[in-house]
Amino acid sequence: MKELKPLTLGGQLLERPIIISGPCSAETEEQTLETAKGLCANGIKIFRAGIWKPRTKPGGFEGVGEEGLAWLKKVKKETGMYTSTEVATRAHVDAALDAGVDMLWIGARTSANPFAMQEIADALSERGADIPVLVKNPVNPDLELWIGALERLYNAGIRQLGAIHRGFSAYGKHLYRNLPQWHIPIELRRRLPNLPIIHDPSHIGGKRELVAPLSQQAIDMGFDGLIIESHCDPDCAWSDKAQQVTPEVLNYILNTLVYRDEKQSTENLKILRQQIDALDNELLETLNKRMRVSREIGQYKKEHHMPVIQAARYDDIMQSRVGLAKEMGMSGEFMQTVLQAIHEESVRQQIDIFNKR
Ligand code: PEP
Ligand code: MN
Repeated sequence: MKELKPLTLGGQLLERPIIISGPCSAETEEQTLETAKGLCANGIKIFRAGIWKPRTKPGGFEGVGEEGLAWLKKVKKETGMYTSTEVATRAHVDAALDAGVDMLWIGARTSANPFAMQEIADALSERGADIPVLVKNPVNPDLELWIGALERLYNAGIRQLGAIHRGFSAYGKHLYRNLPQWHIPIELRRRLPNLPIIHDPSHIGGKRELVAPLSQQAIDMGFDGLIIESHCDPDCAWSDKAQQVTPEVLNYILNTLVYRDEKQSTENLKILRQQIDALDNELLETLNKRMRVSREIGQYKKEHHMPVIQAARYDDIMQSRVGLAKEMGMSGEFMQTVLQAIHEESVRQQIDIFNKR
């Protein structure tokens, strides 16, 4: 995905942190507008509201449907905010584009479904849509499936792509509604460094009180923005009420977040990272030399019909190195793990020599 374009709205590049907020669901015209006005008054520029709600079980609130698009239009007209909603089918894409929705996102249940993703990608492509499309991680912790969903959109010509990290479902009771599994979005960042990643603390935490700490964690990890559910009367919300906050609480949370000064710190970091790179190279060289000597020892043992493992020697090495490491301020356990790994590789290499004719 080499030709990704930065996200824009109204011809303007979206500055980091990208903040998107609004209710889980648009419920009534009044609730949608009241929430939007509250958010707008607190400086939020991008409004979210689910119109079509994928629910795990029938009987839950499944969204107001197309009727809600008129309310989003009204939000845009009365507040000047940009609007976004979730799409899961070709019909949703067409209706949302017809209504002038500015940004779309694909929900976690949809991004796990390649047929639905292809249908959405084709629909967007046929309309020549050039708006930001954000793809939530699939419900299951499968990075390839997440990237696959993004690739389907990319291959259909969609270039303003972003990802939303909303956590992964797990069986049983947990602190989080959806486990963050931070290593997965971090690996996504490594694989696609130009893809903006937005964090969704509302669906990860599932509880109001987890929104602030999760948001701070995401900012600390350098992610590009936050999508946070906000409702004018959270306790009466028709979906996801435990995790929604009022626009005022949202404002408080956003104001208490600490943003690290990236420009200043990266210059210093660059120099320190160069040192780490050089030291890692030395470490590799040293390990390589050690393995060469090890192989020579293996050759000697072979010629003299000695066994590979010499327990007393291994014990000596462990004791002396662990002692030294501790004197240097490293943990003994750490040094033990390192030596065990090195020893294992040495033994493997010596056995290799033994097996050679
Ligand atoms: C939502 O954003 O309201 C939603 C349904 O989220 P997810 O797809 O992450 O469950
Ligand atoms: Mn929700």
